[in-house]
Amino acid sequence: MKDFNVNEDGLYGRFGGAYVPEILYAQVEMLRNEYLKVMNEDSFRAEYRNLLRDYVGRPSPLYPARRLSERYGTKIYLKREDLNHTGAHKINNTIGQILLARQMGKSRIIAETGAGQHGVATATVCALMNMECIVYMGAVDIERQRPNVEKMEMLGARVIPVYSGNKTLKDATNEAIRDWCCHPSDTYYIIGSTVGPHPYPDMVARFQSVISEEIKYQLKEKEGRENPDYVIACVGGGSNAAGAFFHFLHTPAVKLIVAEAAGEGLETDRSAATIHLGREGIIHGARTLVMQTPDGQITEPYSISAGLDYPGIGPMHAFLAEEGRSEVLAVTDDEALSAAFRLTRLEGIIPALESAHALAVLERKKFAPDDIVVVNLSGRGDKDMQTYMREKERMSNV
Ligand SMILES: *Cc1c(COP(=O)(O)O)cnc(C)c1O
Repeated sequence: MKDFNVNEDGLYGRFGGAYVPEILYAQVEMLRNEYLKVMNEDSFRAEYRNLLRDYVGRPSPLYPARRLSERYGTKIYLKREDLNHTGAHKINNTIGQILLARQMGKSRIIAETGAGQHGVATATVCALMNMECIVYMGAVDIERQRPNVEKMEMLGARVIPVYSGNKTLKDATNEAIRDWCCHPSDTYYIIGSTVGPHPYPDMVARFQSVISEEIKYQLKEKEGRENPDYVIACVGGGSNAAGAFFHFLHTPAVKLIVAEAAGEGLETDRSAATIHLGREGIIHGARTLVMQTPDGQITEPYSISAGLDYPGIGPMHAFLAEEGRSEVLAVTDDEALSAAFRLTRLEGIIPALESAHALAVLERKKFAPDDIVVVNLSGRGDKDMQTYMREKERMSNV
């Protein structure tokens, strides 16, 4: 079987790499030389594990969803990342990266955020570690995501509005990279998904891999076997999926399914289904699939879920899809909304809109009665209540 981990050159097949400005070369090179060494140190591992347990609340439960299973005629487990501190999987990564930043002697943390979820997870760990925190956010996103801006500020972060371009995530990312270029020696850039220049995609996947590590022993306890038949996850940049897949990548019996956001549909120009619609290009320092115009300008993606409307995709997922290791479904806004209302009424769990895209796969695929299907429930729906309330009427008529 192919090796699906990153290679020596930071590549997944032809995807990945590190396309960074000259001025950052030394920083990225240092990170690349250090990250595995630091992550494997006993003292680092112990502190990371302790924080995941005592601060984040890990292990997250692997919940056998009885009524959902009855509905689909198969055995469904939900990996409950929604129960983590701050409400999603993102904290697994920010905890890891802030420990790494401290180890590397950095005192100033920068991040970019779209919906604000990664910004909140970063501001949280900066408060915990008493580090300066600067979050770049598009001016349009600041308007759309007030509650997260307020949380970041309460946590002590400085949120800097970005007025260039479309005033959204891509522009915030450009601004964060510009900041990093100006302060390369004292600043650490916490990237929130399996994107960016090598080693970020691999580093973030490893920090999130605790998800599949837990699934294996939890399933062994409950079912007497470590490997499910399917693991299903949504993809924005790809970090929760990478974490849920990591320890199954080289076990072909475990089928991997990703749900990307089709928005209003693949045939409309309102979509964020990068694997279906993107072409090869460079974004955020990596070669991957990118939503772009014929002349190579990055296009503004759209999804009802703010966490999935990223115009690129982590290079690992571009590779998994191209190699046929993962199956990719494009899930529309309406399919995700129905899946969210369905889970809420069947199991009493209000999922994040992002996670609802993964749940929608259950409607599309046919599973055998003795299949074990694990759905990674990446986050909770508190942040999406306004959308759910706005759409409730309409969805009850669909
Ligand atoms: C940010 C987010 C995502 C998408 O990010 P990935 O890196 O693709 O995991 C998915 N679910 C939730 C709840 C999120 O907050």
